Amino acid sequence: MSRKLIAANWKMNGSLAQCRELLPPLASVARDSLPLVVCPPACYLPTVAALAADSALQVGAQDAAQHDAGAYTGEMSAAMLRELGCQYAIVGHSERRHGLGETDDMVAAKAAACLRHGLTPIICIGETQAQYEAGQTADVVERQVKAVLARVVAEDLVKTVFAYEPVWAIGTGLAATPEQAQAVHASIRALLTQAGGGEAAKRVPVLYGGSVKAGNAASLFAMPDIDGALVGGASLVAAEMVAIYQAG
Ligand code: PEP
Repeated sequence: MSRKLIAANWKMNGSLAQCRELLPPLASVARDSLPLVVCPPACYLPTVAALAADSALQVGAQDAAQHDAGAYTGEMSAAMLRELGCQYAIVGHSERRHGLGETDDMVAAKAAACLRHGLTPIICIGETQAQYEAGQTADVVERQVKAVLARVVAEDLVKTVFAYEPVWAIGTGLAATPEQAQAVHASIRALLTQAGGGEAAKRVPVLYGGSVKAGNAASLFAMPDIDGALVGGASLVAAEMVAIYQAG
């Protein structure tokens, strides 16, 4: 069974016109054997879900609330996102961890909320530039993964996706080398093995994110523990995104 997956994170970009422009080329190449997930801003989810219908394209949100319902102004629950046509939700993106103060435990709670409502969480982890320079990558990644393991039981772990996104590589044009990313991915896979046994390690996709483009995708995907990509900037250019997907 393939554990490959490619996801597009539009961040706070796009428009209705761009949804209509970007979706058809992706819908025409997407196939069931390699999931292609588009994560637009929440307001465009219904439009994107409608444009993805009748194709193998899948739809994801960029965040999900940790709570199921209640007085949480501005939040959207996993159940609501399901109703809008999502199968996935990104949680713990570094722009939310570092820009909006999301903690490891909040991210883990969001992943658990997704799983309660049948959404696959794409759980982002990764070290900052300062942590990288201080040689703390392995410790940071272990702490972030273990926070998730504290809230997600082994039988649900197989329904998750992890995305290793070194913060210093996001939106900088400076991707990790395939070898650098592979070393971290292998350590994530070892943590999954410890927590969920062989099944989790075999089935959970571990994506790489951080300045992935058509030009570097194939060399990253050639690594044994890199199962695909979470693509930011390049996902806003249809031809780039199609080329990245076709390298998968
Ligand atoms: C991201 O936003 O998850 C990301 C990886 O961005 P970029 O591809 O632009 O570095």
